[in-house]
Amino acid sequence: METQDSLQQLPELHAHISSSIAPYVYWHIANSEGYKLPKRDYHEFVKHVVLSPQRKMTLKEYLDNIYHPIFNKLAAGAIALEKGVYEIFSGAYRSNNITLYELRGNPMKHNREGRVDLDHAIMAMIRGMERALLEFPKLRAGLIFCLDRQFTFEQNQIIVEKAIKYRSRGVVAIDFANYNKEGFHFKDYTILVEKARKHGLKVTAHSGETDDTNDVWECIESINPERIGHGVKAAYDKKLMAELAKRQITLEVCPLSNLMTKAVKDDTELEFILKTFYENGVRFTLNSDWPETIENGHLRSQYEYILEKKMLDEKQIKQIVSWGFESTFIPMKVNESNLYL
Ligand SMILES: [Zn+2]
Repeated sequence: METQDSLQQLPELHAHISSSIAPYVYWHIANSEGYKLPKRDYHEFVKHVVLSPQRKMTLKEYLDNIYHPIFNKLAAGAIALEKGVYEIFSGAYRSNNITLYELRGNPMKHNREGRVDLDHAIMAMIRGMERALLEFPKLRAGLIFCLDRQFTFEQNQIIVEKAIKYRSRGVVAIDFANYNKEGFHFKDYTILVEKARKHGLKVTAHSGETDDTNDVWECIESINPERIGHGVKAAYDKKLMAELAKRQITLEVCPLSNLMTKAVKDDTELEFILKTFYENGVRFTLNSDWPETIENGHLRSQYEYILEKKMLDEKQIKQIVSWGFESTFIPMKVNESNLYL
């Protein structure tokens, strides 16, 4: 398909470090470090880690068997992180013309269980980003630090403090990620989130992906995020959609990721969700979530998937691309210097 006008430049607001590093980069990192991988052959490795219509896994299965034990282990330490982050931003700009990219990660998931100093891990991410920003002046980029629903409050508090510390170096927001731990409640985080905001950070949270809309309600009533990751379950709750529209909360929808993890059953359900949001005035963006670990998962391919299957028309896609640029947490405007100086 030739490039549509609306797809000339794309905003990516929801992608995770570990699933945005291409398998060949992982292969390079693993072999440089001498890591043993679950497969000895490169193509077997790709088949093992990349999701496709023939290889779907639930979110929990994927996180527990591939994402955390393989990717997070490899994308750890200063050298791997700098290379990984640099390759993510520069690859996205070169191949998809992503001119606005917010990349997220939990620094504590990339520091080899504390054996790597957290500040070294964070500075490595920033170095990777800065190299890409210098190389591609039209790319605007920022980092989002993910808190983890499985972590203790004290661990999450450290992540917020680090986000504040590196605010002026390009950490633009905090996020809540991972599946729920018994006893996790957004209301316990109200004060911490307020502190982050006071220091200029924005807030997003994974919610309404596999859990029900009660979680989304609690999320908006406790921490009132500017954006919500996924939120697709809201399409089944009229009242919630009205509330999201009223508060102008943008949903970061990740179509293929939801299909591959069965959070969304099939194309019919996906189409229903996208159309329902549009018709109910809920602002949303399209994102890849896991661009390198889903077959044909690059952002441009995901837009094309939705256009080809006529889930949305060209005019609607144009609007969604604009919402993406408008909902960004990155402070620089187009044509300004993209460096955090
Ligand atoms: Zn995500």
